[in-house]
Amino acid sequence: MNVFPTTPPIEKSAGSSLVRWILSTSSTALVWISLGGFAWWGHLTDWKFSQASSNRSMIADLSDWCGDHGVPQSICVNCQNPREPVVQFANGEAFEKSGIEIDVVAQQEVTESLLVPGEVSFDPSRTAHLTSRVSGTIWRVRKHLGDRVEAGDVLLLVDAHDVGKAKSEFVQAISSVRLKQGLVDRLAPLAETGAAPARQIIEAEAALRAAELRQLAAQETLSNLGFRIRGEQFAQNPVNDVLKELKFLGIPTGEVTDIDQETASSNLIPVRSPIAGIVVAADAVVGEVVGPTSPLFTVADRNRLWVTLEVPQKEIRKIQMGQKIRFRPDGVEKELKGEVQWIADTVDERTRTLRVRAEVENSSLQIKAGAFGTGQIVLRETADAIVVPQSAIHGRGDSQFVFVRNPDFLKAGGVKTFAVRAIQTGGSTADGVQVVKGLSIDEVIATAGSELLRSRLSQQQLKRRAKPLSPSS
Ligand SMILES: [Zn+2]
Repeated sequence: MNVFPTTPPIEKSAGSSLVRWILSTSSTALVWISLGGFAWWGHLTDWKFSQASSNRSMIADLSDWCGDHGVPQSICVNCQNPREPVVQFANGEAFEKSGIEIDVVAQQEVTESLLVPGEVSFDPSRTAHLTSRVSGTIWRVRKHLGDRVEAGDVLLLVDAHDVGKAKSEFVQAISSVRLKQGLVDRLAPLAETGAAPARQIIEAEAALRAAELRQLAAQETLSNLGFRIRGEQFAQNPVNDVLKELKFLGIPTGEVTDIDQETASSNLIPVRSPIAGIVVAADAVVGEVVGPTSPLFTVADRNRLWVTLEVPQKEIRKIQMGQKIRFRPDGVEKELKGEVQWIADTVDERTRTLRVRAEVENSSLQIKAGAFGTGQIVLRETADAIVVPQSAIHGRGDSQFVFVRNPDFLKAGGVKTFAVRAIQTGGSTADGVQVVKGLSIDEVIATAGSELLRSRLSQQQLKRRAKPLSPSS
């Protein structure tokens, strides 16, 4: 079964150059060859010399022995086909004894990524820094560090003189409008019959317009303080009731029942959170004098955070919008996931890094803003890559190769050989090296201990060079 129909067979020229390379890199001299062959033979026979000399079948075996390739002459594949050198074992047992490990080539998912340092921060668009709109003293603190708040929740109440003043001006303006309106209502029929001078009604109407403008201005002032009201809201109420209603304007109902309604100040103004989140900073003490510039609370939505990564200048070209990001804060098992949503326009002058940002989910709320950690920017993901252990790969650069077991190795009568296969490698992973060309899945390769195959191949090549091939062999 081969899922790569285009996998090229090893080319003759490539093979012979490979062999030359193996030969050239072998530092062993010819004197080692005979020793090596002897050691090999000894290994296969368990060093049983005395038995060999007294054992008739062993004598027969030795008479049929290819010293060059370490297998019986009658089955020596190398002698039969010297153009495609392989490493041959006399039998399966001899291979077992060699201790060489094998691995079946399989596909796996491979991720090529860039590891860079980074930091977690709150998303500024999901963070609110709260201050009092006006100067005053803190009257009551309702939320504290770590508390969860909903949008619109009151965090504290400030007693501010300007608030009481604005409310009173609004009530005065309402009262004034009502008076002026009453006058206009009385004069209008009189002016029509000529009982009152026309000038008088014109002046009364002008005064009413002016009072209405003052009411609008007072309403605007309250609106700027965060109190949402409309003049018509109080149209039917007596002025005293309006005053009472305005006293606790904007104060949550629960809070109002808690307050002594008669003696309480009408200066109270709430500080509300515009967003839902957690109070991540609080600096508010009852009685403290505060103003629009005093930061009181920071509320942040921790469900989504920003991860900002620092990409070294030399890696910048690899970064693209939309690339997947995984981030693990130091000392935390949990991994945050997101994608590149923003890439800085300039390289930081000081750190020579480019800032890259991703928005990440923090549903478990385990991750704290300000945490440092390591980010993984996924550059490429291959679902069906072939990865082999480093121990299987020999040579380097353009001359890398592995030893592939003969497909018939396990069959009865199948030759017990490993052939050299040129490969091209890709990146390294935690499991080994990716092979981009030269291997198909389900092929069997030699891994740990395959150095032994390589040294045997080198010995064979050296012997072949030392002893010119005779036409009969
Ligand atoms: Zn041979």
